[in-house]
Parts: sequence; structure tokens; C-alpha cells
Amino acid sequence: MSLRFNVVEEAFKKHPVEVPAPAERPSEYFGKYVFNQKKMFEYLPSNVYRKLRQSITEGTPLDMQTADEIAAGMKKWAMEMGATHCTHRFQPLTDGTAEKHDAFVEHDWKGGMVEEFSGKQLVQQEPDASSFPNGGIRSTFEARGYSAWDPASPVFILGDTLMIPTVFISYTGEALDYKAPLKKSLAAIDKAGTAVAQLFNPEVTRVSTNLGWEQEYFLVDEGLYAARPDLLLTGRTLMGHESSKNQQMDDHYFGAIPDRVQAYMRDLEIQALELGIPCKTRHNEVAPNQFELAPIFEECNLAVDHNMLLMELMRRVARKHGFRCLLHEKPFAGINGSGKHNNWSLTTDTGIILHAPGKTAEDNLRFITFVVQTLRGVHRHNGVLKASVMSATNDHRLGANEAPPAIISSFLGKQITEYLEKIATSTNDELFQMEGKHGLKLDVPQIPELMVDNTDRNRTSPFAFTGNRFEFRAVGSIANCACAMIVLNTAVAEALTEFRQRVDARMAKGENKLSVILDELRKDIKACQPIHFDGNGYSDEWKEEAQRRGLDCESSTPLVYDRYLDETTVQMFEQQNVMNRHELKARNEIKWETYWKKIQIESRVLGDLCLNHIIPVATRYQSDLVDNVLKIQQAFESDRAQQLAAYNITLIDQINEHSTFIVNAVEEMIEKRKQANRIESERDKAIAYHDTIAPYLRDIRYHIDKLELIVNDRIGPLPKYRELLFIR
Ligand code: ADP
Ligand code: MG
Repeated sequence: MSLRFNVVEEAFKKHPVEVPAPAERPSEYFGKYVFNQKKMFEYLPSNVYRKLRQSITEGTPLDMQTADEIAAGMKKWAMEMGATHCTHRFQPLTDGTAEKHDAFVEHDWKGGMVEEFSGKQLVQQEPDASSFPNGGIRSTFEARGYSAWDPASPVFILGDTLMIPTVFISYTGEALDYKAPLKKSLAAIDKAGTAVAQLFNPEVTRVSTNLGWEQEYFLVDEGLYAARPDLLLTGRTLMGHESSKNQQMDDHYFGAIPDRVQAYMRDLEIQALELGIPCKTRHNEVAPNQFELAPIFEECNLAVDHNMLLMELMRRVARKHGFRCLLHEKPFAGINGSGKHNNWSLTTDTGIILHAPGKTAEDNLRFITFVVQTLRGVHRHNGVLKASVMSATNDHRLGANEAPPAIISSFLGKQITEYLEKIATSTNDELFQMEGKHGLKLDVPQIPELMVDNTDRNRTSPFAFTGNRFEFRAVGSIANCACAMIVLNTAVAEALTEFRQRVDARMAKGENKLSVILDELRKDIKACQPIHFDGNGYSDEWKEEAQRRGLDCESSTPLVYDRYLDETTVQMFEQQNVMNRHELKARNEIKWETYWKKIQIESRVLGDLCLNHIIPVATRYQSDLVDNVLKIQQAFESDRAQQLAAYNITLIDQINEHSTFIVNAVEEMIEKRKQANRIESERDKAIAYHDTIAPYLRDIRYHIDKLELIVNDRIGPLPKYRELLFIR
């Protein structure tokens, strides 16, 4: 009997882990392990507290003496909470975070030790930058890199360690991470957004960016997972025939959450809330064993940090419950993959959501100005926006029939579309009212009237307006949200900057403000029309239409990355002071390198599995069949024997056919890999892996999956889709 049967049996026996209810209510344990405002107040002298708050809200730099005093307060709190170590925690250009722990100890120079944590340790550390992806910015002989504290994201305790969120930059000041350019893009949108908001509300002094991500994921029993080397090493199944039943009954989406999964979710939520992540929503997703968690939206920088922390927690907590959490965008072929919808909007310090319709016609002019400038940014930079979400793993999702297509467009809904139409065709300075929610009378006994939103939804749109925000749906489930947010923020900041400049120039000539705003909007609405598409983004007609409209329709990821180096892109990033050409080039080197390495690993794993799992099992079953044919030939006279053995002989042929294809294709694939590996340029290598190696993964898989249908279930070594997806 194969290992598979043992793990399947074990998986069926598993019961939910007991998760004791916390003694307090969520409002009481929320942020228990976070050095939040309340703890700052409690542990810091009042002048230090004031300086830190000012630094957080206004971005003023802190002097070393203040940093020392903050560190002393933090250390006191952390040690009371049982922490023994501290670390800077940063987001290098990989899929995860990085940390290096130091104990709170120093020599006391009397032969003993003292607990120590200085302002210098809090503010700055020096990890070796050459060992992280740096795209050639750092080489081993000039390895210095610095991590620097980001006071806007509070420190927290994870296990026994005080975690300090930081940016990561090189000796020469270039960003080596996601956080540094994200913070710069947030500053850019603050500046540009404030300038435009002030046209309508002069009292506005700051604009901040909101992000509410929705995180999708799969859970798989850990025993089944461990028996799948492809899942273990690449995060996805490289083979496996579709289960006869998968998601076709639509019975998983929003279905009753299985007990073992519910226990996991509860445990995860409690731990996340204690770490200050405002978890709110949980539900079953479309595919079997697929789920979602969403918090309440937060300021973008903090939301990104919280998403990175949550992904780490998801994996840790899963293991406690005998699960593995899969964050790959497409762990299983033939069913839905996982994304991370990024709900994005801008808010003023006076509490206005700039992407939400208001009560008065004037409010709505402001609202529509922000919507239109967002569309302009997205239209102008649709190629690089797509590049920001594309990866070797998200490739399997983008463009497939369940996820946003590999073309960026924006759904606006009927009401906004009509409103834009009205402005675009109006000839005077008239302002229009916008319809709010309307009542829907239901002809169902006892059910009260419903309030219906003014827009319907369109699940096929990659960048959809959803009432008071845009939802960027093409972001991959494992991605760092920052990568997409950096581009979106910068593109919109650029559009807002230009808008204000145009308005100012005309007002300086004495034109009336309202007329100028309306007139500029009219031009912009026409200019960004190609990005607006309310139809079915999955249809083939849309692909042709998008091409006609001049939208970026390239689907090869390594080629889409070129958009980062377009002159218009470089100009945008440089003018908005987010990244320079050198940084952009370095980042692209990393993107290409990461791309081909992921496919290289998959190709190696698939080759190994073919030769030491698939072919041996197929051959063994083929021998069984040959034995049977021989016995039939011994036992029966020739005509009868031929009849009786016919079916098995067909199977022997089929196995031979598939096996031969697999063995030959693996050999060819290895040869192509050798050729690709000799290529020097990261870009060309990525293109070679995309064009000449990735297709083998698909073709070889087809034959393996066919074999799975033929070969005796008893000797198959790898857990099948029906087991991976339905045992929980
Ligand atoms: P859906 O119905 O699309 O699943 P939800 O209502 O559950 O969406 O919200 C998804 C996410 O959007 C949540 O994180 C929520 O807090 C966030 N969100 C709601 N309003 C805004 C907004 N104005 N800006 C940014 N995010 C928002
Ligand atoms: Mg949503």
C-alpha cells in the first residue's frame, strides 16, 4: 500500500483543535501585543510621547536623544510582556519579510550582563544587503545596507521578540525593499491629493491612502501536503487530474464553514487581533477548501505591514491545526485560484472619503474629480500597473477564466457612467445631483424593503469602482500589496499634480474656478475613456476591443516587465520622487530573475517526479497488465485469449504512449533548460523560460493526468485532487 493511503486515513481521523475562548472581548484584547498609542502614553515621558506622536502624524524626524528615551520605554514594556529579543523587520524584494534577532543583553563590564536596548538599536541596524535580492545595487564587497525604523507602523511582540517595522536601503540610499518606495508614493499622493482637495475644501491639510485587502487562501491537511513534493517545493500542484466533483455545484462559496477550519479561523483571528490586525470578515470561497479573510481597511502603509504579518500568522497557525496554508495564486488547476483584492481610496484629515459620493452637488464634483484623475492615472499607466501584479505564480490566474484578464480596465457602473456622460456633454457650469441608494420593494412576506446600491458589481473587472473605493482585483494572493500600491499611488499622484497645475494656470489668467474644473474634467473624461469598460472582461471580444483602444494586451510576463522602464514610467516615478531610474532597473533585474528561477524550480521538480514517481508507477502497472495478458494466453485458446486480453492490451499501449511522451519531453525540457541557463541577461533568460520551458510544464502534465486515470488507484503514490480538496 502506498504512503498515500496512510496519510489519507490519518487525515480523515483529524478533529478540530480546541481553541479556548479568550476571557475578554475583542475590544479589550485588540492590540495586546502592540506598542500602540495607549502604551506610548503609559510608558513614555509626556514630552517624548508628544514628539513621537508628531513624528507619526506629520513625519517629522526624531533626534537620537528622543529615540533613546522611546527605546527605554519600549524595552520596559517589552520585558514586562516577556520579550527577550528584538529585531528590525523589513520587506526585502522576496515574497516575505526578513528579521535578525538580537537579545536585550550587553556586558556590564563587571563580569555579568545587563538588559540593554538603545535608541540606536531602535532607529537603525545594518543587515548585509548583498544576500538579499538587490538587482546589482549591492555586490558582496560593498555589502552595507541599512534598516531604519518606520515610526508610522507600531512595534509589536511576536513570540519572545520585539518586532520593529523598518525600511531597508543601501549604503548609497537606494531602496532595497517595498516599504521605502511605498512610503514615498504615499507622500506623493498626500501632496498632490491635498492640492486638489483644497480646490474644494481649503481646510484640508493632509490626504491619506486607505487599503482594505481581502486575502484568499487554501487549506490542505498537512499529511496530504507532505506527500506532494510539488506542493512542498513550489507551492502548487504540477500534476493531478481534476476531481470529478469540484466547484461546479457552487456549493462551497459562502457555504457552512467546516468545524476544523472554523477552529483554525478563530485561532488565527484571536492572534491577529492581539497583534492589532482588525479582522472582520471570514468565509468559504468559490473553490473547495478555499477561504477568505478580510480586515477593516486601514492607512495603506500599516495595512501592508498587517497583511505581511497576517500571511506569516496564517502559515504558523495552520500548522498547529494540522493544516498547511497555501498562499500560491493557483495551487490547483481547473478550479479558482486565489487573489488579494486591494480596496483602495483616499481620505482627507477632515474625514472626507474622496472616492465616495457626497450629499451636495459640490461634494459630487469633488468626488468625480478624484474618480476621473484616478482613471487618468490608471489609463496612462495601465501597462506598468499590470506589470506590478504579474509574476510567475499569478500568471496562472491572470487571464484564466475566473480572474481578472491580463488587460487593465475599470468598471464604473451605470450611475457613474451616466454622471460622467452628463459632465462630458454639458456646455455650461451646471452641477448635477447624484442618485443615492434606492429602495427595492420585495414581494416576499415579512421581508422589509431593501436598500439597493447605486452600482451593481462586475466580478470580471480588474479595477472596479465599488461605491466608495476602487477595488484592484488582479493582485496575487502571495504578493506584497505594496508592489501594486506603489504604482497605483504614483500614477494617481501624477494625474492629480497635473490636474492642479492645469487648473492653476487657467485660474491665474482670471478664469472662473468652477468653469475651469468642469472644462478640464470634460477633456479628461474623453481622454481616459479607453480604460472604462463595464462589459464582460473574460470575453474574447473584449481582447480585440482592448487592442483597438490601445490598452496593453501583452500577456508574456517578462515582456510586460519592460513597462517599468518605459520613459513615461521612469519620468512618473522620478518626478513624483518615488524611485529613480537606477532603482527601477535594479528592481526589474530582480523581477526577471525571480521569474525564471520559479519556473526553473518547477521544471526540475516536475522532471524528478516524472522519472521517480510517475514512470515507475506506470511501468509497474503496465507489468501487472502484461502478466495478466500472459496468463490469459496460457489459459485460453488463441481466439478467446485475444478477446479477453484486448482491453488490457489497449491499456498497455496507452501507458506506453503517455510514458514515452513524458520521458522524451522531460529530456527535451532539460536540454532547453541547459540552453536557457547559459543566457547572461536576466531579461532574456526570463523570456527563454517563458517561451521554451513553461510550455513543457503544461504538456507533460497533460499526459501525467491521463495516466492518473488509467493506473491502478492502489499504487498511486501522490494524493489526488479529490483527496487534497475534500478532506478537511
Ligand atoms: P466585498 O463585499 O467586496 O467582499 P467588503 O465590504 O467585505 O467587500 O470590504 C472589503 C474591504 O474593503 C474591507 O477591508 C473593507 O474594510 C474595505 N473598504 C470598505 N470601504 C473602503 C474604502 N472606502 N476604502 C478602502 N477600503 C474600504
Ligand atoms: Mg471585494
